[in-house]
Amino acid sequence: MKMWQTLGIFTSVCAISEIIFQIYRYRLKRSSVRKKKNKTEVLFFPDKKVACINYFTSECENESCSFSHEENSLSKLFQFIHNAVKSVDVCVFVFTCTDLADLLIQAVGRGVSVRVITDCEQVDIPGSQIWRLRSQGIAVRTDNSSFYMHHKFVIIDNTRLLNGSFNWTRQAVTGNQENLLVTSDSQLVCLYKERFAKLWRQYKTKKDQ
Ligand SMILES: [Zn+2]
Repeated sequence: MKMWQTLGIFTSVCAISEIIFQIYRYRLKRSSVRKKKNKTEVLFFPDKKVACINYFTSECENESCSFSHEENSLSKLFQFIHNAVKSVDVCVFVFTCTDLADLLIQAVGRGVSVRVITDCEQVDIPGSQIWRLRSQGIAVRTDNSSFYMHHKFVIIDNTRLLNGSFNWTRQAVTGNQENLLVTSDSQLVCLYKERFAKLWRQYKTKKDQ
C-alpha cells in the first residue's frame, strides 16, 4: 500500500470518529436539557424568609434588602411565572400575595395570556389582589357558589403544572405547612388543562367576553 493511501485511510477513520463523537455529545446534551426541563420537584413551605422578587426576576440594588436572596420555594415559584412565555392559568382559592400579583401583571405586559379562577367569597377579603388584577385587564372568573372553589394549581405555558395545598398568600409562604408539586408530566398537565377549561366555561358570566 502506498504512503498516500495509508494516509487517506487514517484521515477517513479520524473524520468518522470525530463525527460519531460529536453526535454522541449532541445527544447527551439534548437528553440532559430534556431531563432538566421535565424535572419533577416539590416546593415545600413555609420558607424562612420571603424571597426578594427583584433579585429573582431582575436585580436587587437595595444593599440593606430585608428579603431573601437565597433560593427557596417562593423564589422558584417567582421564576416559573417570570419565565412564562405563552400562558399562565391560575386556579387558586385565596389570592392576597402582592408579589405574585405583580408577576402576573408583568406577564401580561410581556404578551403572556393570564387567566385566573378563584372563589367568589375570597374576592373581597382584606388584601385580596383580585380587583387589582381585574383593573390591569386580567380576566378573572369566580364560582358564584356557596361551595368553595378550593383548587390551588397553576399551569404554565400549557407544559408545566404546579399543584398542591399552597394558597397565594403571605401566610402560606412563611407560616403554613404547604406543598406544591411541580411536574411536566404531559398526562397530568393535560388533565388539569381540561379541568381549568371546564371551570372557565362553567364560570362564564354575561359580563365575560
Ligand atoms: Zn433584595
